[in-house]
Amino acid sequence: MTAAAQGHDPARAPSRPPAVGAVLDSPRLKPLIRELGHRLVAGAVRQEIERGRLEPIAPGREEVAVRVSQRLSSSPARLRRVINATGVILHTNLGRAPIGAAVAARAMELATHYSSVELDLSSGRRADRQDLLQSLLCQLSGAEAAMVVNNGAAAVLLALSVLCRGRDVLVSRGEAVEIGGGFRIPEILRLSGARLVDVGTTNRTRVGDYTSAFGPKTAAVLRVHQSNFAVSGFVERPSLRAVAAEAHERGVLVLDDAGSGLLVAGESALGLEDVVRDSVAQGADLVFSSGDKLVGASQAGIVVGRDALVKRLRRSPMTRALRPDKLQLAVLEQTLLCYVTPGRLDEIPTWRMLRTDRESLRARASEWAGWLGDRAISAEVVPLEGAVGGGTTPGPPLDSFGVLVPHPRTAALRRRLLGAEPAVLALERDRGIVLDARTVLPGEDQELLTAVVGALAEVTPLG
Ligand SMILES: *Cc1c(COP(=O)(O)O)cnc(C)c1O
Repeated sequence: MTAAAQGHDPARAPSRPPAVGAVLDSPRLKPLIRELGHRLVAGAVRQEIERGRLEPIAPGREEVAVRVSQRLSSSPARLRRVINATGVILHTNLGRAPIGAAVAARAMELATHYSSVELDLSSGRRADRQDLLQSLLCQLSGAEAAMVVNNGAAAVLLALSVLCRGRDVLVSRGEAVEIGGGFRIPEILRLSGARLVDVGTTNRTRVGDYTSAFGPKTAAVLRVHQSNFAVSGFVERPSLRAVAAEAHERGVLVLDDAGSGLLVAGESALGLEDVVRDSVAQGADLVFSSGDKLVGASQAGIVVGRDALVKRLRRSPMTRALRPDKLQLAVLEQTLLCYVTPGRLDEIPTWRMLRTDRESLRARASEWAGWLGDRAISAEVVPLEGAVGGGTTPGPPLDSFGVLVPHPRTAALRRRLLGAEPAVLALERDRGIVLDARTVLPGEDQELLTAVVGALAEVTPLG
């Protein structure tokens, strides 16, 4: 391959990287130096120059300055607001579910004051942190008992450690999966002290595969939701009900790692599966799910199921180590209240996004295209396929609409949008960048469009 074919263009490449001092003299960095100090900015400049050496065309002085100012932004905070224009509702890199404004306001009030987190106000005595939460979760799932730990992975680890340590746990070969962020079923099992026994094959597992694997050391069957991939074609997976019947006959527990934890029955029109209630009804002894996926709250690990088992988990010293913070509890409690009060479901951003119909998305995209058009920026309304994400993918694609802004340098434009304040995460397509209307929150339209105009002004079509 020639250098040109690889994207090297010796004629355009600056002969050598810029000097640190030259970059620091760029007017773009002046406010940053004033705010953060010379030393911190100079360090970032050095790092960007080093990073640039690895690229086919080393970035010049201004490009390095742009990258440094993007990295340090106008504030030194590492966590910044991002407008999600990807159409993926539960985007793992963007903190999964955003929480509702009313929910957040209530939680913020509790955060900035003292709260009754461990106090029974009617008796004045010390109380369990989770009593209201537990009854809400039981009501929503139909389970006898519930508890909440720090996250979904912690819930699975806790149950396996307390209930299965030193014994066998049967897992279908099709379910020994890795979920984003390094959660791997075989590793969690090893960490818990339980022994993994594989049953069935990657594509087909039958009830008989479980029954023939049951032995005196079998503590549980663990079912795992296939979060982020699909096996299609010659595939078979027995119903939870059938597996539970066989397991319970032999005194073996059925644990169901439901992942996303859909908590609302009657939303099957959305094509979403794994209602926690359904799993409980089919005979799972314990069901685990995450608070910040389809539940739409903040990070939490939700356990629902049989009272005797939940009591055993609660008594474990490990539970104390996996305890959720009062803010997590407040957000979850407030979010669950939106489920049980009629008409409040759309206060949960995840649900509002899921339920927005195509026509309103098309109308919003047209407004964006019109606004950009008025500023002589060409933008086309395009149909899109978004996704639920966050451990419900590869579920059904979500029909959506957005705008395509044609541009020859999509990567540069996308990078510039990430440097905006708030940052914008857009999709990159061959012809330009794409903004999906479904995941852009209400009230973010103007910030989004302004960021696009700003980025287009800075990224010239020819580079
Ligand atoms: C997301 C997920 C987990 C991990 O839950 P966290 O809340 O991220 O810790 C575990 N199992 C499944 C099936 C999941 O989808």
